[in-house]
Amino acid sequence: MPVAYIALGSNLENPAQQLQAATDALAALAEVRIIAGSSVFRSAAVGPGEQPDYLNAVVALDTSLAAEDLLDRLQAIEQARGRERNIRWGPRTLDLDILLYGDQQICSPRLQVPHPAMAQRHFVLYPLAEVCPREWVLPGGDTLAALLSRCSTDGLADTGLALNYHLQH
Ligand code: AMP
Repeated sequence: MPVAYIALGSNLENPAQQLQAATDALAALAEVRIIAGSSVFRSAAVGPGEQPDYLNAVVALDTSLAAEDLLDRLQAIEQARGRERNIRWGPRTLDLDILLYGDQQICSPRLQVPHPAMAQRHFVLYPLAEVCPREWVLPGGDTLAALLSRCSTDGLADTGLALNYHLQH
């Protein structure tokens, strides 16, 4: 079964609770087994106007779902948490992205994997490095270590909070 890495982000309505609720919702899916969860990081929001800081984390999971079916499940979890999609890069209750799906490179109208922005995002790469080997070679040829070496940690803080991902069926 492929290992997929999922980025979780929230900057509204108790972000720490949103990330834990999303982890619980992923763990409750019959086709998913969570293998590891990163600690929770805090970063300043990127996007229009004044926005609260984000909390971000990454989970690693085994899944029998095809990548687009996994995306459907992530979007259903986002919707259930009340995410509204009207402001691009606006504040959000919950954002779930597929960073990596096994060693696959996917470029469909709905889904690009590896996630196209991940190499530039410290709030994705540093939590990812807690749950994914740094020598992992990403589709495209870079190791995770190489991406980290080009990405500053400025403005990124580890909150010390951990996701509880041991809720299993
Ligand atoms: P966002 O507002 O950043 O959550 O983007 C959501 C849109 O990005 C959805 O319409 C998805 O179909 C699309 N998308 C493309 N690639 C990905 C990916 N790797 N993970 C999640 N959503 C993706």
